[in-house]
Amino acid sequence: MSKKVRVRFAPSPTGGLHLGGVRTVLYNFLFARHNGGDFVLRIEDTDQNRFVAGAEEYIFECLAWCGMKPDESPVAGGPYGPYRQSERKSSYREYAEKLVAGGHAYYAFDTTAELEEMRTIYKTEQNPSPQYDHQLRMKMRNSLTLGEDEVTRLISSGVPYVIRIKMPEQETVHFSDMIRGEVSFNTSTVDDKVLLKHDGMPTYHLAVVVDDYAMKITHAFRGEEWLPSAPVHILLWKYLGWMDDMPQWAHLPLILKPDGNGKLSKRDGDRLGFPVFAMNWTDPRTNDFTQGFRERGFLPEAFVNMLAMLGWNDGSGQEILSMDELIQRFSIDRVHKGGAKFDFEKAKWFNQEWIKKSTPERLKNDVKAILEKNGIVVSDDNYLLSVIGMVKERCTLLPDFTEQSKFFFQTPEIIDTESIRPKWNMDKSVFFKEIQPVLAGLQDYSAASIETAFKDLATARSIKMGELQLPFRIMLVGGKFGPAVFDIAATIGKEETLLRINRALEQLA
Ligand code: GLU
Repeated sequence: MSKKVRVRFAPSPTGGLHLGGVRTVLYNFLFARHNGGDFVLRIEDTDQNRFVAGAEEYIFECLAWCGMKPDESPVAGGPYGPYRQSERKSSYREYAEKLVAGGHAYYAFDTTAELEEMRTIYKTEQNPSPQYDHQLRMKMRNSLTLGEDEVTRLISSGVPYVIRIKMPEQETVHFSDMIRGEVSFNTSTVDDKVLLKHDGMPTYHLAVVVDDYAMKITHAFRGEEWLPSAPVHILLWKYLGWMDDMPQWAHLPLILKPDGNGKLSKRDGDRLGFPVFAMNWTDPRTNDFTQGFRERGFLPEAFVNMLAMLGWNDGSGQEILSMDELIQRFSIDRVHKGGAKFDFEKAKWFNQEWIKKSTPERLKNDVKAILEKNGIVVSDDNYLLSVIGMVKERCTLLPDFTEQSKFFFQTPEIIDTESIRPKWNMDKSVFFKEIQPVLAGLQDYSAASIETAFKDLATARSIKMGELQLPFRIMLVGGKFGPAVFDIAATIGKEETLLRINRALEQLA
């Protein structure tokens, strides 16, 4: 019987979530849902020095915003908890000791000063940054170099120590990556990573293996930046005797800068003027602020859709896909091997398509919040819904709704009469005076009857309709934009239409 699929997103809560991080969650989530499996959120917080207030809450909020609800997490609980590594502290030592007993790890007593010294005295041209590895371990103070009695004495007298993995000197570690195929590493360049720290906390390397095993994770998808750590993890799976339960790996390619080469960074976003984090983030240590896609005005549907397509497609050419469609179509073997260049214009296109595709009801709360933030009072939700229906085709990001719909709620402060003036003449001036009592007398103040009234009077006065629409638009809207002008007139109502015509005529006189 095949095992139930279980994947995990295992972030270290050290700051805002970069879009590469969110894409990693998304691919995990899509894979789990596609296969009827479980999606676990595990907080990897074993490095207490890197604790950042608010970072964990940010992760929960971000997953909720994107619609990726974990089945098991520090908040939801679950059968394999606790889901915060700091709360699992007591479970790791036993495995580190087991590795020592098996000859795959050792105690190391070197002080910070001694490690510093090692880096200085063994620095040569061939080895510019010496590491604690097979070449140097026998020159250091550890249980491989000290006698058994001395080791026992040091430990029992409370001298601080760490446990390090003993990387084999020349061994090729192979594994099969679901995206990259066969991957192999020679262990000779990998250092003896610390597994258990002075304070008894595991490092990431030990904790990730112990927890993936304990939580019965079947597939581990993570960013390509973790590829160099893979040989350490694979050897740990082997040394702990768990090879049969090792998850299948997939290292996801990087999201690259739009220009040049290399990983997309927060700095690229600042430089080129686009967000790189999912949501706003202010680093509590530095007060450094980073804008998020959410606050920039992206819909989560668009953000998720755009991320899914950054490095994957289903081969059909269809780009606009809902979460349900992504779940149905996702497969890891269609994830590209190479990195995907981030393109903010394309990201905006996804948002525009999603705004177009969304119903006014779906957009209502988001738009209302934006309008209210800009001092526009929305007192009638049905009115708002009809405005959204009229202007959504013209909006790329949510804040565009302010400019595109403000004039439905407020008389424009400025009317761009300068754009009317060049073609303005007596005939038009008379027309806009005469149309007022006609509009005032309309029983049915609908777009169709306003248009008919305009046409009839225009014909009677021998003026082309095309000559009247632009000035009328500017009178109502303030500028040369907006949806169909007769729809605008009907929506703002008779009184407001007449008021705006009059105001413009006064300015044009
Ligand atoms: N804690 C690691 C991170 O912050 C997780 C890497 C992994 O998924 O193995 O990205």
